Amino acid sequence: MPPINKYECNACEFELPMGWGGVAYVESNDGKRITLTHPIEDSVRERVLNIPPGTLSSFPHDKPKWWWLKKRLNTYKKNKEMYDLARARSGFLSDCICIDCMQKQRLDLKKDERKCCSCSSVNVKSLRDLLGNLCPKCKKGVITEIKTGIWT
Ligand SMILES: [Zn+2]
Ligand SMILES: [Zn+2]
Repeated sequence: MPPINKYECNACEFELPMGWGGVAYVESNDGKRITLTHPIEDSVRERVLNIPPGTLSSFPHDKPKWWWLKKRLNTYKKNKEMYDLARARSGFLSDCICIDCMQKQRLDLKKDERKCCSCSSVNVKSLRDLLGNLCPKCKKGVITEIKTGIWT
């Protein structure tokens, strides 16, 4: 379980919400991103992707062996397909902020273009980008991590 930390500027009042960082999601058939909360991630993925309950959490543990019965092998193949589908449709939305208009937004940094949803600026930074760098608000302080001692 990850610790919850606070992130704030050491010079002005600018701060990022606690637990900032992001959230895992799964993309539904109509392209909606449904966010997942730990530890029910697998069951939500199964529901969204129409996969029988328990398929993801019980996979992948057994790799096919030469003595496997055809039926078992077919089940494995079917489950693997669903597992791969779930993997392909899953992602992570990072909390980001636009340096130009301060709009907070969530982006999948692997799939999405870094572009502000509000002003179209490309100066969209994630928590990781901001940490240890100049504060986007006062441009004097540095964004620092403060441990709260709370764990999720
Ligand atoms: Zn500042
Ligand atoms: Zn913007």
